[in-house]
Amino acid sequence: MFDFKSLIDALKSGSDPFRCALDLVKDELHIGKIVIKSDAFPDTLEYISTEEYDKDNPIKYENGSYDFTFFKNDKNYELTDEEKNDIDVLLRILELYYNNFILRRQAEERETLSSDTNMPNAKGFFKQIHILLNSHKPSEYNSYYINLKGFGFVNRLYNYQIGDQLIKEYAKKVKEFTSSDSAIGHLGGDNFVAFLKKEKHKEFVNAVSKVNVELEVDGNKTKIEIKGVIGYQENSDKDFDYRSVIANTAIACQYAKIAKKPIEKLTPALLEMFISINNIEHTFKDELEMGNFSVYYQPKFDINTGKIIGVEALSRWKNKGKVLPPSVFVPILEKNGDIIQLDLFVLESLCKDIHNYRNLGNNIVPASCNLSRKDFEDEELEDKIINIIRKYNVKTEDIVIEVTETTNLEENERLARFINKMWQNGIMTSIDDFGTGYSSLSVLRDFKVNEIKIDRTFINRNMMSESDEIIISSIIAMAKKLNISVICEGVETKEQADFLAKYGCFRAQGYYYSKPVPKLEFEDMLKKIGTYHD
Ligand code: C2E
Ligand code: MG
Ligand code: MG
Repeated sequence: MFDFKSLIDALKSGSDPFRCALDLVKDELHIGKIVIKSDAFPDTLEYISTEEYDKDNPIKYENGSYDFTFFKNDKNYELTDEEKNDIDVLLRILELYYNNFILRRQAEERETLSSDTNMPNAKGFFKQIHILLNSHKPSEYNSYYINLKGFGFVNRLYNYQIGDQLIKEYAKKVKEFTSSDSAIGHLGGDNFVAFLKKEKHKEFVNAVSKVNVELEVDGNKTKIEIKGVIGYQENSDKDFDYRSVIANTAIACQYAKIAKKPIEKLTPALLEMFISINNIEHTFKDELEMGNFSVYYQPKFDINTGKIIGVEALSRWKNKGKVLPPSVFVPILEKNGDIIQLDLFVLESLCKDIHNYRNLGNNIVPASCNLSRKDFEDEELEDKIINIIRKYNVKTEDIVIEVTETTNLEENERLARFINKMWQNGIMTSIDDFGTGYSSLSVLRDFKVNEIKIDRTFINRNMMSESDEIIISSIIAMAKKLNISVICEGVETKEQADFLAKYGCFRAQGYYYSKPVPKLEFEDMLKKIGTYHD
């Protein structure tokens, strides 16, 4: 007689019913293999024990709804009536606990699966790696972290449903690398991870760097290219900790994004740089004092004449031999409020340069610098700016302050006060990244701004729709009527410049004309290209 009581106790504690039941049968009947088929279970259940068995000698027991086959070494074995009865009871217990077990298993899977793509989430990914490492060495594998390029922009350009669909389509590509010796995962949003055999590297990178999908957008079939930015590391057996693969490769991916590269490998030097970047919160003042922050200049051009009409000062940080862009340090400095010191430093460097350049008898163009929204928390911001401009004897009409649109009413009031104060003092203001905030139109109506700078995403021709053209042409027309000058940033091609000119915007800034360059290079440019005042 089977020990049903201990079986039921095990089942109550959530154990796998088949394994428990078959263990029980095996102990009682000394059998080597059991196969159960029934409509009650989705799969054929097979259990092989360590007992010897004769695989050519199946002993069958059918009771109508079950097909119970077992293999024993004893050829002439016959089940007794009592054993048959026990098996009937056992199968009924199995059926009873089956649903319960499946529900538990599904809940566990849900806990380890991303709900958007049905791929393993971080927990599931780690679990897979853990299992793989029972039979493989870490050095057989590379770890990857992928983040989609410009995905926030895609979400803004279309809508979140389209964004979700794109993620699902991209996930399909990553899922193709599912196999018994690999692990893949979706951490949520546009973040994917993989742990793959090293020999798969080329194939994987090729597959996930660019994925073309076709989606229905507003009833039209639209082709969209999704680019994955990849950070990866080649794992080694020494000191390998599988829990750090996501964190490490995320660093490499983040760096690839900063450096505008499609792929980056994590090296000890990169890791060290990452640590020092994150330490900027504490080392900023020293770094500033040591002269590790500097200003690059990006000229603004007149599309018709090709001459320089203005320039923007952009901060840079020299760190361990690399020149790092503001996306690395501005967000950190914004968090602790040090950003205002950097912004005033840039303004002061700019004023010094203008002063010196003018003293040499040169013509200059209006020069802008950027403010962070966070700077407005300082009630003396306006006075500080005016004092710096006066200190270097710079004419107020030579300076433009770039600000971005606000996200709430309170900030809006503060911004209005700032812009008006600048206006009263003859200092020009420009609304940077225009069109990406919430207050675009009211800014034009209510604030005395001199310029708007149309955000680069509006002229990204790859993704432009008819409505973009309508929006951009109306922004330009409206600004003109209100006597506000318009410039467009991020112009990378001649087609983009032509497009702007077609709609009456003749001022542009972007890589098509020039990247941000160090001061001396910019001065050379001024001499060679010449200036133009419209
Ligand atoms: P922004 O003021 O909108 O500056 C334009 C950014 O676009 C610059 O990046 C510039 O290098 C980049 N850019 C210029 N032309 C092109 C192009 O054709 N294509 C593309 N893809 N990009 C182009 P950068 O220097 O990395 O600055 C990024 C942002 O950081 C700036 O955006 C600005 O908002 C902020 N920033 C820069 N310097 C400072 C600063 O001193 N203080 C503060 N608060 N923010 C700063
Ligand atoms: Mg700017
Ligand atoms: Mg901008």
